[in-house]
Amino acid sequence: MAALYRRYRPETFQEVIGQIHVTGPLRHALTSDRSHHAYLFSGPRGCGKTTSARILARCLNCAKGPTDTPCGECPSCVELSRDGGGSLDVVEIDAASHNGVDDARELRERAVFAPARDRYKIYILDEAHMVTQQGFNALLKIVEEPPEHVKFIFATTDPDKVLPTIRSRTHHYPFRLVVPAELLAYLQQVSESEGVTIEEGVLALVVRSGGGSVRDSLSLLDQLIAGSSDQAITLEGAQALLGYTPRVLLDEVVAAFASKDAPVAFQSLDSVMQSGQDPRRFVEDLLAHIRDIIVIQATGTEAHELFPGVSQGDLGIWQEQASWFSPAQLASMGREISDTLQHMSGVTAPRLQLELMVAKLLVRADASVNGSAGRSVDVPAATPADRPASATNQPADQKASTAAPEAGPGSGPGPEHSSTAPSVPEASIEPPTSDVASEEVFATPVEPLAEWTLEAVVERWSGIVETVGEQKRSLWVVLSETTPVALNADVLTVGFAKRSDAEILKKPQGPGSPLPNADLLRDAIYQHTGHRVRFTIAELEPHQVPTPGANATSQWPVVSKPGSDSSGSGDSGGNSDETAGVAASESETSAHASPAVSEEDSMATTEGAGSAPENTEPASLVEESPEEPGAESAEADSKSDPTASASATSQNAKGSSGPPLATRGEPVLRQVLGGELIGEEILSEMSGQGEADV
Ligand SMILES: [Zn+2]
Repeated sequence: MAALYRRYRPETFQEVIGQIHVTGPLRHALTSDRSHHAYLFSGPRGCGKTTSARILARCLNCAKGPTDTPCGECPSCVELSRDGGGSLDVVEIDAASHNGVDDARELRERAVFAPARDRYKIYILDEAHMVTQQGFNALLKIVEEPPEHVKFIFATTDPDKVLPTIRSRTHHYPFRLVVPAELLAYLQQVSESEGVTIEEGVLALVVRSGGGSVRDSLSLLDQLIAGSSDQAITLEGAQALLGYTPRVLLDEVVAAFASKDAPVAFQSLDSVMQSGQDPRRFVEDLLAHIRDIIVIQATGTEAHELFPGVSQGDLGIWQEQASWFSPAQLASMGREISDTLQHMSGVTAPRLQLELMVAKLLVRADASVNGSAGRSVDVPAATPADRPASATNQPADQKASTAAPEAGPGSGPGPEHSSTAPSVPEASIEPPTSDVASEEVFATPVEPLAEWTLEAVVERWSGIVETVGEQKRSLWVVLSETTPVALNADVLTVGFAKRSDAEILKKPQGPGSPLPNADLLRDAIYQHTGHRVRFTIAELEPHQVPTPGANATSQWPVVSKPGSDSSGSGDSGGNSDETAGVAASESETSAHASPAVSEEDSMATTEGAGSAPENTEPASLVEESPEEPGAESAEADSKSDPTASASATSQNAKGSSGPPLATRGEPVLRQVLGGELIGEEILSEMSGQGEADV
């Protein structure tokens, strides 16, 4: 018996499924007698291009045509039916094997002869993208100005490979994959007329496997029918034949995740492996299953429309499974599984990958259900010694700030260990105060933050900076003096102590790397927040420059922009504040380098400059209170700062001065440095404020 897809090959446009956007206009052109001389049918394989080309030929050559509904009785119609032997006037050429210039020439020469019997001589070129350049060139003339009686239909999966000069002379009809619901209805129809009983859910599997191709789906159904004993196809049999993981196993595994039942999870895994199932396929199926649950959870009672062919019973089970997890958990599980899938190709020990994945999923489910207790499992051991944030307790640590990064992130175990380290002990004693807190402790990328606000980013900023530090120390040094100051959709404004500092974001990550440093920061932000951002730059007022222990959110809500001085003072005042900021940040290094700095100076530097890497650590060290003394003292210190900054800058022979010098730029520098002008670049950067996209 012929294959299903041949026996059910459509003979009219009405029978073609899922391509109404193509068949509709074609039929209209036929009935209004406006058919073109050349057509290009493109689209994925198995979705009806060649079939439609034959139908079109049949319509054009029907004795009662041209018509959109071939009569089916005239000699042409009979010959071109699916059981017919083919017509002399309809020439099908497989361009894959007849792609050369000779074939094209032959075609061209033959085409000039009138049709043997019917209205048109029709050439169907299948796999037209295989025709060579010379072949197309040889065809060009005849496609361009064909004789009245000649029609061309090109069918291809890759229209871009068809010579543009040819393509532009055709009417292009793009075919599509058939949507699942339509395909399912069609398969149901076919199996009914084949007289087979099919258990619910089987066809949905076939549709999924067929991937939208009618031919592939029919072939699979054919195979199932052929392999079934008594014209009945069971779900179990279909799953086995199509290579799907048995549903029972998937349900078992998901239940194990929900109940955090490690033994059951690993036993199910073992039975998967024992059954000879491909581990990769199992992961794929699990991912698809989690996806189904996610969709069901999101759509509730509307779900059945999205799952054509799935029985109510199954939907009920999935709905129950959906109730076991939070949306965030499901999303995070999905991501974990998807990551595993990506890493599985070419892996020599797929089982190991699989087991690791299950272990992580168990921990993840555990962590997000139980809060702190579970989370601590996920978190690498905290190493407070690494923590620049300890500076709050030990102001002297400031001096080591430049050295700290060398010892810090390099020895850290996980990407976020340092940002979260101090909060871990707290978190494991007390329940998390908010989602924010609980997510921050996750060592792996978190779900996109529910509350995507500036505060949320500020709260994670120190962790983000630490993550960057593990990749690139120099970037860490600069970023530790920054704080986010505004968030507008996906545009994050990062406040830098000095505008010139922001330049580092544009610099390449390394020699030969086309990627800018900004990408490192972007990735780190994504790791901590699940959001991808774009950057703009702002320059911080000196009092905004991060201070250890200060409450970040309440301290610098204002974006510094030219002309909008937040402190209310005049332009000159604002400017001097800015220069103080520059000086202060410079003093960070100089304070470290020079023991000669007086005690008063070093104190002022430490607190006032507040620009050490640790400063951005916001809420985890100090309880969040709107009235934060740190903010005040920073404000005050920045005013009493001049001595520190002046001495610092002179030590450093770089930078500028503090508030007492009411102007900035060259005069300031001359004043401070005795006429030696250094740092023009910085100044020109500072004068050009505004925002810069990175
Ligand atoms: Zn006919």
